Amino acid sequence: AAKDGGRGRYHFYAHDLHSDAEERRRLEDDLRDAVTHGSLELYYQPVVQTTTEKITGFEALLRWNHPVHGFISPAKFIPIAEDTGLIGPISEWALRQACNDLAQWPASVRVAVNVSALQFANPGLPGVVTSALAHAGIEADRLELEITESVFINDSEGTDAMFRALKAIGVRLALDDFGTGYSSLGYLKKAPFDKIKIDQSFVRGATQPGSRNGAIIASIVSLAEALGMETTAEGVETHDELDLVRLLGCSHVQGYIYERPLSSEAATKRLESGLVAIAHGPRAARAVR
Ligand code: C2E
Ligand code: MG
Ligand code: MG
Ligand code: MG
Repeated sequence: AAKDGGRGRYHFYAHDLHSDAEERRRLEDDLRDAVTHGSLELYYQPVVQTTTEKITGFEALLRWNHPVHGFISPAKFIPIAEDTGLIGPISEWALRQACNDLAQWPASVRVAVNVSALQFANPGLPGVVTSALAHAGIEADRLELEITESVFINDSEGTDAMFRALKAIGVRLALDDFGTGYSSLGYLKKAPFDKIKIDQSFVRGATQPGSRNGAIIASIVSLAEALGMETTAEGVETHDELDLVRLLGCSHVQGYIYERPLSSEAATKRLESGLVAIAHGPRAARAVR
């Protein structure tokens, strides 16, 4: 689009590039400040077991409330953190904070923490995990680490060693955003996952006539079951989507249909009111039947 408008346009484009770089540098500085001043937060989204409708755990999700720009998505600031080396301190803080918050919740509840490919390649990770668990005094199997297929890009002895080290600690492992990356069945065979998280792009539209997503979800579920793994359908927003993923046999559901990510205080209050989850997403599609 930059060249479409002829000569005059080029200057605007160059200017935009310049301010993008400047904006980015400012964001890096602000993120460094946020880490130093402890102004990042973890929010917790309930994970619900389909058969019982009980909250079996929470996924911890980073939140950055920027003093000027307001809320900035982790999808935007995690890459900045990775480029600047801030991912190390941020991830360590997130692991420790999630374990400390989990220590206040019922023993039947787990917490899942996202681990980026860069962290997964860091040999210091098992030490941080062990220390966070010990400090909070929680059992290792109450902590689940969510890993994406991107950790397999540089599949190496280091990757295998990291899987062994984490399993030796006793934490659970989940394969996040399944189906969106370099999906290969080879690593499902060798990596010791306890759960596959079915990406929300498969849930979205699955209830539309002619969609192939349902067939894909069903295949992932049967594959997971054959391998003794649980399945969480991500991003379930409507009653129809909930009915479908339940019918297709997903063992767990996560999405706005039950709850958006909550502050730790709100998550604690939510648990105090009971473990049973209540679906409150739109019912429009059903009402017109
Ligand atoms: P993810 O791990 O796949 O997390 C699920 C994302 O889906 C979250 O976005 C969550 O808020 C969103 N979500 C949940 N239910 C629904 C729904 O019903 N509809 C829709 N439209 N979205 C839903 P969020 O919180 O913006 O996080 C985005 C990504 O940032 C995460 O994707 C994860 O890859 C990354 N991330 C978040 N926290 C951390 C962290 O502590 N460490 C690392 N390394 N990455 C993180
Ligand atoms: Mg995740
Ligand atoms: Mg995901
Ligand atoms: Mg994602």
